[in-house]
Amino acid sequence: AQALSIFGDHSDVMAARATGWGMLFSGSVQEVMDMALIAQSATLESRVPFLHAFDGFRTSHEIRKIDRLRVEDIRAMIDNRMVQAHRSRALTPDRPVMRGTAQNPDVFFQARESVNPFYEAVPNIVQRAMDRFAGLTGRAYRLFDYVGAPDADRVIVLMGSGSETAEETVRHLASEDEKVGAIKVRLYRPFAVRQFLETLPPTVRRIAALDRTKEPGGAGEPLYQDVATAIAEGAADDLFVNGAPRVVGGRYGLSSKEFTPAMIKAVFDELDNERPKNHFTIGIHDDVTQTSLEWDPDFDTESEGVTRAVFWGLGSDGTVGADKNTVKIIGEETDLHAQGYFVYDSKKSGARTISHLRFGPDPIRSTYLIRKADFIAVHQFGFLERYDTLDTARHGATLLLNAPCPADEVWDRLPGSVQETIIEKNLNVYSIDAYDVAREMDLGGRINTIMQTCFFALSGVLPEEEAIERIKHAIEKTYGKRGEAVVQKNFDAVDATLANLAAVDVPATATSTLERTPPVPPEAPTFVQNVTARMIAGHGDDLPVSALPVDGTYPTATTKWEKRNLALEVPVWEPDICIQCGKCVMVCPHAVIRAKIAGEDALDGAPEGFLTADARWRELEDMQYTLQVAVEDCTGCELCVEVCPVRDKSQVSRKALNMAPQLPLREKGREHWSFFEQLPETSQAGPTGLRFTKSKDVQLLEPLFEFSGACAGCGETPYLSLATRLFGDRMIVANATGCSSIYGGNLPTTPWSVNRQGRGPAWSNSLFEDNAEFGLGMEIAVAKQASYARILVDRLRSEIGPELANELLQADQLDQEG
Ligand code: SF4
Ligand code: SF4
Repeated sequence: AQALSIFGDHSDVMAARATGWGMLFSGSVQEVMDMALIAQSATLESRVPFLHAFDGFRTSHEIRKIDRLRVEDIRAMIDNRMVQAHRSRALTPDRPVMRGTAQNPDVFFQARESVNPFYEAVPNIVQRAMDRFAGLTGRAYRLFDYVGAPDADRVIVLMGSGSETAEETVRHLASEDEKVGAIKVRLYRPFAVRQFLETLPPTVRRIAALDRTKEPGGAGEPLYQDVATAIAEGAADDLFVNGAPRVVGGRYGLSSKEFTPAMIKAVFDELDNERPKNHFTIGIHDDVTQTSLEWDPDFDTESEGVTRAVFWGLGSDGTVGADKNTVKIIGEETDLHAQGYFVYDSKKSGARTISHLRFGPDPIRSTYLIRKADFIAVHQFGFLERYDTLDTARHGATLLLNAPCPADEVWDRLPGSVQETIIEKNLNVYSIDAYDVAREMDLGGRINTIMQTCFFALSGVLPEEEAIERIKHAIEKTYGKRGEAVVQKNFDAVDATLANLAAVDVPATATSTLERTPPVPPEAPTFVQNVTARMIAGHGDDLPVSALPVDGTYPTATTKWEKRNLALEVPVWEPDICIQCGKCVMVCPHAVIRAKIAGEDALDGAPEGFLTADARWRELEDMQYTLQVAVEDCTGCELCVEVCPVRDKSQVSRKALNMAPQLPLREKGREHWSFFEQLPETSQAGPTGLRFTKSKDVQLLEPLFEFSGACAGCGETPYLSLATRLFGDRMIVANATGCSSIYGGNLPTTPWSVNRQGRGPAWSNSLFEDNAEFGLGMEIAVAKQASYARILVDRLRSEIGPELANELLQADQLDQEG
């Protein structure tokens, strides 16, 4: 495998096909609840274990209004006699039996076939459970559910959340007299060939089986193979009077890749071709093996009655929590249907979040991101400089900005391209300084209630007065237990929000000279410019197959190119009272604060304001010490300030490090950091006489693990940083999957870095369970290479001279000097 992905597709489920479990697929949040009960009922009756699957991230992370099952319906679905029968088969010393014997060639095969009647019975058992369920709840399912034109000539077959989008698209196309349909696979294992063939409209002539997985080297992906087999068997039995339909297979949606109505339409269009492409991909641009189908991104099936809202926030600013709460308020307390879906970037600290919310009078089947929003909120003003936040705004949409200034100053602070989009799309712009309101209302940095109130006031989903009343009701429910004062504080915040929310005047032309900052600076390496930068900017979906390494090998040392500017405040150094202990350097989870020593020569040309102090080392007389902060990489966790042991005696609130607002320090900080970076590094083998067994000296060594995406204040990463200071130039890391593989190895940028000689840790990731063996393999390989090197040195003794050979072979390598 070329990488790990935690996102949603069917690869893991497909790996479990050979277990013999029954497999039921759910496509929506409602179905997750319904199929769980149907699976439970069917497993008890059939005695076949069931795996109930639904799409990770898409369905598991979606919030949708559903009908909750009643306990009496659950009871009615579970036959107590089956439960008793199941229990009677349990292992117990009362009726001792053995299971899991080791069998020999004489009987294993026959025993394996003894289960056939059970699998043959499963489809009918599941259908009966579905029918009982429909009688109780009114929600009817079939093993294969068909939607679309009864006389369709083109049909797609798929399962999971994509089938919801397929249904929306097929209904739209069928309403325009297109002869198309879709089969939603519910029971995937056992694959009920007869029922599948019965579900197909008799007019079908083309079928596309869509798999959300890839099986490299296979004749096709699993669902395609099942459908092709079913059609071949149907043809062999002369079931198709007009000839067997042609079957093609395609892959879509791997690792939660978007799957939209436009892509489904492209598949139907392809099926109309004389020789439709087989083994195609949809949703990517494959310029290597040309598997991909083109699609029209402007094709849209969403109905006008749905309000669509997109919110840009930071993981820590409460945006997602507020949006979930909004879905709850509207979903639970009105007749409207509501859907919430949340997209996170891959960082653990300061993750960017994009919430997609839909509200409408009819059930919402759109299992894809919003492409034409009526309302866009940007909760972090800095995002306007970095991301194309208005890309999804429809013409005439409402834009809400959390701006660090009054409404009449907002326009001049917008980048030119943002101003142009606002004018071109005729957006209605509103702003509020939510952090200021939060401060005034004593809410700390939490802007969730404030921004939520703005949404209700502006979006028109509910009449404003009713909306505000419902927010206050929700506040009472959420904070009621914490006392009246907390509730009142939030009520006041709602009122203050309405008083501070203001419209922004939009002139007829763009006036700004500000431009969006490029994702990486021009001096970044080619791969970072061409590939990494696209991912940072949120355009990774547009990268073609040819842009990506074939074997998952990526360059290290890339976090330095991604300036995230997360911290509202950063530490500022006071050299006059600093004792140069290095504690701040050692504790920083992101290797953001660093120390160096330098001679006067090296400091020639230092930029204005670049601070130094006489080095407090006996061994380093006449040298200068400097402590610098990469302000654009700092997360503002304040650990360095907390650990600093020094206070100014004449002003005890002043430490040797103190937090100060980042924005005014950014430009200078960038200049200082760049000068600092080119100062010479202290070498472990250098002439300084330092011994790197205490933090005071180790602080001077270069870390080869920097600016990771770990959470602000992470307690793990300072150890990695320390390990790389000491051993990084000859380190190989066997990383067990977990937190460290995400902050350490998640694209777009990774923190393991290199020194000036280009040396640094080499890194690879394995499963959690086998990591010891994974690392042992690396250790054995290195030991083998070392022993072979010794053999070669010995063989070359006559050529390199016995003295050098002996020195090499007998060198004490137990410590740094050796
Ligand atoms: S605030 Fe946190 S991230 Fe920033 S320099 Fe200090 S310890 Fe490092
Ligand atoms: S912890 Fe404080 S005293 Fe120690 S080096 Fe850092 S700033 Fe100076």
